[in-house]
Amino acid sequence: MSKKLEGKTALVTGGSRGIGAAIARRLAADGAQVAITYSRGADAAASVVKGIEGAGGKAIAIQADATDRKAVQAAVEKTVNTFGKLDVLVNNAGTAIPKKFEETTLEELDQVINLNIRGVFIATQAALKQMNDGGRIISIGSSVGERMMTPGLVPYSATKAAIRMFTQGLSREVGDRGITVNNVQPGPIDTDLNPASGDWATPQKAATALNRYGKAEEVAALVAFVASREASYITGANLTVDGGTNA
Ligand code: NDP
Repeated sequence: MSKKLEGKTALVTGGSRGIGAAIARRLAADGAQVAITYSRGADAAASVVKGIEGAGGKAIAIQADATDRKAVQAAVEKTVNTFGKLDVLVNNAGTAIPKKFEETTLEELDQVINLNIRGVFIATQAALKQMNDGGRIISIGSSVGERMMTPGLVPYSATKAAIRMFTQGLSREVGDRGITVNNVQPGPIDTDLNPASGDWATPQKAATALNRYGKAEEVAALVAFVASREASYITGANLTVDGGTNA
């Protein structure tokens, strides 16, 4: 039997580390040709590509700051020029700057908004121009876009809440092309951004029902399902993979 994403092409923003790298590896393992973008980590991106190729898959890495519209448009074009088409966009690049809201600078607010919201907007606009009917727009939101357990993430959670309504709104505009739009909302996942050790991790772990951090691969598994043909009737949905944090 052919793999479930055989013949599909995916672009994953911020695919050099963490959740994005796990998504890229999983989509490739399921048969997709995968392009990843990164901003600074050329070596990390190259090693993700090498790993995918070593496992018999196809991948390319493209340097493209997710806040730079021209770079993102060029990344979409390069993906299509290399693999011939685009079926799946995963808006994964995102960041948090944990600190008290009153102490957050305007530059820090702009940084989080530009990457987590504006970055999703510009990548999705660029991708929709090229995307085949039946395509998939999948954004990585967060469980804190729905419920907040800890202080220090005010602008971040607001950006992730914006991704929820972006997802619901856009699903109403592209459904006639058979394109689905979904939001995958992880809880605490062990990555460079949110390591499972240290003071900051303790309350996050305690808030889960499973009493543990999640693995990037556990998020990637849901993304791979949403990207697949089997998920063809799921759209405008906010799908939480948070170990029960929001239960
Ligand atoms: P990491 O910081 O571990 O990895 C971020 C990835 O995005 C890297 O590959 C990085 O590449 C890339 N990236 C960062 N900034 C940019 C940019 N401006 N342009 C292009 N690529 C960029 O983050 P996570 O894997 O933890 O998070 C991934 C997504 O998941 C984010 O949207 C995050 O908000 C979300 N999320 C994470 C949770 C967690 O607990 N970890 C929980 C809920 C949601 P480079 O090194 O080149 O910059």
